[in-house]
Amino acid sequence: MDMEKVQQLQQKINAAHRIVFFGGAGVSTESGIPDFRSQDGLYHQQYDVPPETILSRTYFDRHPAEFYRFYRNKMICLTAKPNAAHKKLAELEQAGRLLAIVTQNIDGLHQMAGSRNVLELHGSVHRNICRSCGAVYDAEWVMMTNGIPHCDKCGGMVKPDVVLYEESLSEDVLTRSISAIASADLLIVGGTSLVVYPAAGLLRYFQGDSLVLINRDATQMDKMADLCIRDAIGAVMEQIQVPEKEA
Ligand code: ZN
Repeated sequence: MDMEKVQQLQQKINAAHRIVFFGGAGVSTESGIPDFRSQDGLYHQQYDVPPETILSRTYFDRHPAEFYRFYRNKMICLTAKPNAAHKKLAELEQAGRLLAIVTQNIDGLHQMAGSRNVLELHGSVHRNICRSCGAVYDAEWVMMTNGIPHCDKCGGMVKPDVVLYEESLSEDVLTRSISAIASADLLIVGGTSLVVYPAAGLLRYFQGDSLVLINRDATQMDKMADLCIRDAIGAVMEQIQVPEKEA
C-alpha cells in the first residue's frame, strides 16, 4: 500500500468537516458480496438468462417466481458483515465529520455498521413492499417464503424496494444525494469504476476542496481527482484515524 497517499488522505480527512462518501460494488465485494457486473461474477452459472435481464422490470412482471429464485439466491446475502470501510465511515459520521453516504449497493451493510444517513440510490434488499397495502417486509421474511411472496396482511404481491433495470431512481434519494455532494468539502469515491448510471453524473455536482478516488482499477475520472489511491477500499480505510468529535 502506498502509505504516502494514505497519509495524504488522512490529512484531507483531518481538515474536512462535511465529508461525503460515494460508494460502489467494490465496497461490498470486500464483505464477500459478489458483483454481478464483474467478469468473475458467479451469476451466470445456474441461470439461462443474464442477470441484467432477470433484474429488469419486464422480467419481474412476466416471471416473478424465477425472479425471486434469483433474488433469494444471489441478491440477498444475510451472512455478509460490514468491513473496515463500512466501520470507519460510521465512525466518521459519529465524530461529526461525515454528512452522508451515497451508495449504489443494496445490502444494508453501512446501516449494519452504524451509519445513519445512507442514501441508497438503488434501494435495499432489506425493504420489500406489498404492492397492494404498502406493508414492508425485511430480507429474512422473503427468505422464509417460497415462490412469489404474498403479503401476510392482504395477500398482495410483494416487490423488493430495489431499483430494477428499466425503472427510474427515486427522485427523493437522487435530490438528497445531489444536495449532499454539492455541500461536501471532501468527496471520497470508493469501490466504483464510475461507469454505472448515475455515478459519474452525480460527481459533477461536487464543488468542494478535494476529490479522492479509491479503487483497485483505474477509472475515467482519475484525472479529475486530487488524490487517487489504487487499492482496496477496506484496506485503505482501515489505516485512517478518525479525528476527535468536534464540540
Ligand atoms: Zn399487503
